[in-house]
Amino acid sequence: MLEKFERYPLTFGPTPIEKLGRLSAHLGGEVEIFAKREDCNSGLAFGGNKLRKLEYIVPDAIAAGADTLVTIGGVQSNHTRQVAAVAAKIGMKCRLVQESWVPFEDAVYDRVGNILMSRVMGAEVELVDDGFDIGIRESWERAIEDVKDRGGHPYPIPAGASVHKFGGLGFVGFAEEVRQQEADLGFRFDYIVVCTVTGSTHAGMVVGFAKDGRERNVIGIDASGTPEQTHAQVLDIARNTAALVELGRQISADDIVLKTEYAYPAYGVPSTETNDAIRLCARLEGMMTDPVYEGKSAQGMIDLVRRGFFPAGSKVLYAHLGGVPAINAYSYIYRNG
Ligand SMILES: *Cc1c(COP(=O)(O)O)cnc(C)c1O
Repeated sequence: MLEKFERYPLTFGPTPIEKLGRLSAHLGGEVEIFAKREDCNSGLAFGGNKLRKLEYIVPDAIAAGADTLVTIGGVQSNHTRQVAAVAAKIGMKCRLVQESWVPFEDAVYDRVGNILMSRVMGAEVELVDDGFDIGIRESWERAIEDVKDRGGHPYPIPAGASVHKFGGLGFVGFAEEVRQQEADLGFRFDYIVVCTVTGSTHAGMVVGFAKDGRERNVIGIDASGTPEQTHAQVLDIARNTAALVELGRQISADDIVLKTEYAYPAYGVPSTETNDAIRLCARLEGMMTDPVYEGKSAQGMIDLVRRGFFPAGSKVLYAHLGGVPAINAYSYIYRNG
């Protein structure tokens, strides 16, 4: 589906799929859970899902003659850390706007984890006091103008690399890769579980899996806490991406399955149940997840298994999208494990 698009390799190649046997057994053994490890996808600063998207965006930045990647996220954004790594790798500068998206105050929240790495990799980091919003931000537009005023050539990348014309392509590629791996494994996954916030990960999967009729088997777990806006953004990106790859069919609102009951109490703040899920995956599988994204999708998946959402015998693929560096900014919660 992606032959006509240029791709700049930033990842190691196809990501491994592993069976989570002890977690599956712990949850009753009627559903088999597997994880596709996007968190292990690259040597660029711990990797993660944004790199798969950026592989299709970097060629456009190079063609545009840019010298500075400009992007935005929360203080502990995984996305901004991955953009900083990409800028270093391709020899560009990086300008990051980090907004106060998360009402959470660990003593060193703005010093450790993702933001620490972005600074070490040479990005220019600006802390801004605005709250959570997945849309286009004024602070980001100001940063773009500022780079121009200083004589630079900015290349704007929106939050999460999502509302970019090529933002959905990377995860169309994920679906194609899963199909290839299924051929080797000799079975098909019945469901794919994915954490959804800025939306292009979920949207790309919907388009990629629509090719074999599985678009509604992609179960998005909302972690934004603003589910209407997130659902609308996923739908919009999926429609644009479907047109871009010439899918040949329409994507409807009902094709975007988004579970909205796990994002509480707020974006970036884990609930007791999120922390239970993080500890369960860590203690049964040695698989680390984070309190902002993957802990919530793990929580959602575990709850859906327990409530019988997946019929007995189902094979469920949990897309582990990365994000573990952020857990360092939540040290007080996990001070005793
Ligand atoms: C960005 C991110 C997500 C959400 O992906 P979107 O494409 O923004 O919806 C999920 N998990 C992790 C670890 C992320 O960094």
